[in-house]
This record gives sequence, structure tokens and C-alpha cells, in this order.
Amino acid sequence: MQSPLTQRFLRYAHIDTRSDPASPSCPSTAGQRILAQELATELTTLGLAEVTLDENGYLTARLPASPGCSAPAIGWIAHLDTSPDFAAQPLKPQFVPAWKGKDIALGDSGERISLKAFPALRSCRGHDLITTDGRTLLGADDKAGIAEIVTAVETLLASPDIIHGEIYLAFTPDEEIGRGADLFPLARFPARWAYTVDGGEMGELEYENFNAASACIKIQGNNVHPGTAYGTLVNALTLASVFHSGMPQHETPEQTQGLEGFFHLHHMAGDVEAAELHYLIRDFVDEGFARRKAYLAERVAAFNRELDQPRLVLTVSDSYFNMRRKITPHPHIIDIACAAMQGAGIKPKIKPIRGGTDGSRLSFMGLPCPNLFTGGFNFHGKHECVSIQAMHKAVEVLVAIARHTAQLQ
Ligand SMILES: [Zn+2]
Repeated sequence: MQSPLTQRFLRYAHIDTRSDPASPSCPSTAGQRILAQELATELTTLGLAEVTLDENGYLTARLPASPGCSAPAIGWIAHLDTSPDFAAQPLKPQFVPAWKGKDIALGDSGERISLKAFPALRSCRGHDLITTDGRTLLGADDKAGIAEIVTAVETLLASPDIIHGEIYLAFTPDEEIGRGADLFPLARFPARWAYTVDGGEMGELEYENFNAASACIKIQGNNVHPGTAYGTLVNALTLASVFHSGMPQHETPEQTQGLEGFFHLHHMAGDVEAAELHYLIRDFVDEGFARRKAYLAERVAAFNRELDQPRLVLTVSDSYFNMRRKITPHPHIIDIACAAMQGAGIKPKIKPIRGGTDGSRLSFMGLPCPNLFTGGFNFHGKHECVSIQAMHKAVEVLVAIARHTAQLQ
């Protein structure tokens, strides 16, 4: 017999909500609106106030405070979409009760989940797991988060003895294509701070992410017939390759980890006449981030000085920033999450995110927003799976966060 939490998760996971970076609309795909509508009905039935699904596919709702409780309003956020990187349907979930740690065959696909390939799963020995049949992703990212939030709210509504302040919910579209914060309806989400429920293994608590920028270097060559090119042809492709080979060779994504930053050449294109290099710049530390941007600008300037005329033009645009800066001035946001986890018997695993989250952008929009675990693993592919016990713990942690916040009144 499946718990209401598991049933809820599977119900959401069966709706295809893959986002589409090629679509200009918001939400980028119709499936996300279908899930949002289903959730709107569910939240209304549960008795939440101000359930609002707007034209951009953002669903918000409010859980009123316990009578007499004037604790600060907080928020819980999860995203509706799944990654466009992998097939999402037809989803055929597999149940692995009380997993012993042995390899898990994924249906008849020939794919397996093994501890060797995914050592992080070690913490789930003995848990009941849900996997795929090896042909789709599971969608625990982030439907586990949605199911946990809805179940936590249901728990609070059914337990009037648990005192809590106002809690706002938001389910957002298109996180996986980097647009989840673009049209976030802050006006109807007056929480003082919020938690995205979008992390991985049990205990994960994240409030530090990369500072991120993208850099484009446009290179102007001079194309001349190769037979008469002597002394006049300038090959933009040659300039591009020479420029890139002079970049720090060990500061790449595949050679860095933990708190190390990098330059990532993710796209290059061109011909003799014109070429382009596109880099992602990542660094956790503000000074390091500035230094990387300055380094690129200096190299472009030095390169130009060696040429017959300036041929390289650099443009850099910031993408997102390390939210740590916006969270650490309010230590209670993290303290409450840690206390909630410890109360649930979970050791908080605070670790930096080598990427960005909607929470980091929301933090810079004035809503400090760390990230909590969902209990899922191996997101964005066929090896995705989720621990049912960890999902239940996530609900317990959310309820405890509500309880601890109420003590701030
Ligand atoms: Zn996610």
C-alpha cells in the first residue's frame, strides 16, 4: 500500500512537463500548465487560500497562520518542469523495496544502477526506492519537491496543534531552462524568506552557489584566396584556437571540484573570415569572479596588441551570483533548517552548488532562498531514482521548519 506522499509523487511524475528551451512562451510547454492546474485544484480542495495560477504558469497559494501566531511568513518553492535533456514519458516506475545495495536492473533496458557508478546511493541502503525502467527520467527533480510541499501543508492542516505562521507556496515553470525566476510573482508571495525544495540526497542544505557569467569573444579575420594569401590572409579560426590554447589549462569543469572555479569553453564556431568563442565563467568567491573576468579582458587586450589591428571583441554578461551573500546576514534561515533536520534525526550536509538555482536569483530579488533536499538522486537521466524514506523525511523537515519559525514570533 503506497503512502499518500508516494501516490502524489507518482501522479505528478506521470504528467509530461519537460521544458523546451526553444519555446519563447512561459510556460515553455503545455504539460507544465496541466500539472499546475491539477495542483491548483488539489490545493483548493485542501483548503489553502488565494490559490492563483497566472497566465505565465506560476501557481501560488497561502496557508494561513495558526490562530494568534504572528511569526514571519515563509515560503516553500518547487518547480513544475523536468529537464529537456532526457525523455520523460512513458514513465514506468519500478519499486525496489528495502534495497540491499545490489545493482538494480532498470527494466529490460540493459541499464543498471550500481553503487560503483553512483556511490552517493550508499546512504539509501535499506530504503524503498523508486527508479525508472531505464528509458525515461523519473522526474523526482522536482516532483518529489512538489509532493513533499503539498504533503507538508496537508499535515499542518490536519494537525492544528502544530503552531505555524503564514506559509506561501509557489510552483514555478521552466527552472530547468534557467527561466524559473524570470516572472516570479513576488507581489503575491510576501514571504520574508523561502526554501526551494529541489536538492538531492537526504540532509542536503545549500545556500552557496557559483557566481556565473558568460563571455563571448568575436574574432574578425580577413579571408583571401589561399593562392594569393601571402601576407594578407588572417585566419579567424587560427586566432580562436591560439587564444583558447593560452587559457589556463587546468581551470576547466572536468579538472575542478568543490569550491574551485573555472573557465568553460562550451561553444566555438566560425570560418576564416569570422569566429566566436563562448565561455562560461564560474567562481564562488566574488574577488575570484572579478579576477576571472579581468583576466579574460586583459588577455583579449594583449592579443589585440600583437595583431595588425584589434580583431577580438569581448562581451561579458553576468548570469547569477552566489546567494551566500544574501543569506548569511540572516543566519536564522539556515539555523532553522539545521534544527529541523537534526530534530528529524538527519545530519545536515551543507555543500556548495556547482551551478545556480532559482533560489539564487530569488535571493538577489529580495527573497533569501536556500535549497533543501528532496531525497532524489541522479537527476536529468535514466538513472534517476528517489528514496521513499527520504521523501518522508523531507516532509518532516518542512513541518519542523514551520514549527521552529513559529517560535520567532
Ligand atoms: Zn530541480
